[in-house]
Amino acid sequence: MRLSLIPSQLSLQTLARTFSRDEVAPLAREADETGIFPLHLVKRMGELGFLAGTIAPEYGGAGMDYLSYTLISEELGWADSSVRGFLAVHGSLVSLCINDWGTEAQKQRYLPRLATGEIIGCYCLTEPNAGSDAGNLETTATLDGDEYILNGEKIWITNGGIADLAIVFATTDRAKKHKGICAFLVETNTPGFVREKMPGKELGHRASDHAHISLQSLRVPKSSLLGQEGDGFKIAMSALDHGRLGVAAGALGIAQACLDASVDFVRKRRAFGQRIGDFQMIQATIADMATEIEAARLLVYKAATMKDALSAGKALPTTRETSMAKLYATEIAVKAASNAVLLHGGRGYSNEYPVERHYRDIKGLQIYEGTSHIQRIVIARDIIGKEGKEGI
Ligand SMILES: Cc1cc2nc3c(=O)[nH]c(=O)nc-3n(C[C@H](O)[C@H](O)[C@H](O)COP(=O)(O)OP(=O)(O)OC[C@H]3O[C@@H](n4cnc5c(N)ncnc54)[C@H](O)[C@@H]3O)c2cc1C
Repeated sequence: MRLSLIPSQLSLQTLARTFSRDEVAPLAREADETGIFPLHLVKRMGELGFLAGTIAPEYGGAGMDYLSYTLISEELGWADSSVRGFLAVHGSLVSLCINDWGTEAQKQRYLPRLATGEIIGCYCLTEPNAGSDAGNLETTATLDGDEYILNGEKIWITNGGIADLAIVFATTDRAKKHKGICAFLVETNTPGFVREKMPGKELGHRASDHAHISLQSLRVPKSSLLGQEGDGFKIAMSALDHGRLGVAAGALGIAQACLDASVDFVRKRRAFGQRIGDFQMIQATIADMATEIEAARLLVYKAATMKDALSAGKALPTTRETSMAKLYATEIAVKAASNAVLLHGGRGYSNEYPVERHYRDIKGLQIYEGTSHIQRIVIARDIIGKEGKEGI
């Protein structure tokens, strides 16, 4: 396994780092306080080729490899999880899903505009009674002539209030469980697509747009079906396989930001006549944080590298490695953020320092696109195998 980045990856990493530090990070505190997403960054990410990173140039994408895309997510995560979260949903859950499952007409219609940010995408899977247990969703799709009629409710939909295009998962027959689920491409100006802001104030990702969406007898043509009828659950899971890699990289970025801020702080802050960075307990915390981040980075980059091999037709599916990367990177980032607040003392408890925001944001990464419990289930099932099926 190669442990160094090639020149094209290094130059994208530099581009993403410069963008994140110069254009994203300076806006993060105000966006978090006001709850207003800096929408101009969407077009900028389109200009930089980030919005459709791994998609082929013929559909407006940048044609980069997954490792490069992962590096971009890591740098955005360092600066602002709300912006990185936007990219994970718009770029991975929506664009890559259309790229993998769409017809030629669907790809031509949506991918180039998603790539520039002319239109924004959202991914509607979670419902009030179906989160981790997504196969149990209740939104219905009823065929009526050449149209499907959608009815149901979706919650916690990132970009839901600003999106132009939604991938909506609904069932044609609940008795068929997973096999009854279908995916639909729904233009959000369709009558019956009703959206409002999620109630309450979020713990983190406060600049993200989180919507509650009601589908009220919404009619879509048969041609809006993504994949075949009954493919919806497979489509949802394959999209999450892409998305989880971006979440893992985002967690890595948060952990690195917490380490960078902590190192800077412990070098300057003095107590008992010396730098706090000279106390052994502080040093142990920094050493553990740095070691865990490096271990997480190897898992994340390995999953990305395997995904590149997979897309080149040279490897097996990477679901286990992606889940391991997401599980480990989010768990160590939760710890890193908690320690970073502690190392900053009282200052870490105020949004005067970014570690306070990272501490709140990281809990979201541990929950969405499959909680840590669910990642453990995915990993264990892949290792042990389901009854009747061989594992490794
Ligand atoms: C900031 C944010 C953004 C989001 N964005 C989106 C989005 O864009 N689109 C979208 O569709 N959804 C989105 N979600 C929803 C998110 O994916 C769900 O919240 C998540 O999948 C968990 O589902 P739930 O909230 O229903 O919790 P539940 O599934 O009810 O889980 C509650 C608890 O039970 C545990 N649990 C459940 N089943 C098991 C099991 N079998 N074994 C052990 N433990 C279990 C869970 O791990 C969790 O700890 C977002 C959520 C957040 C917080």
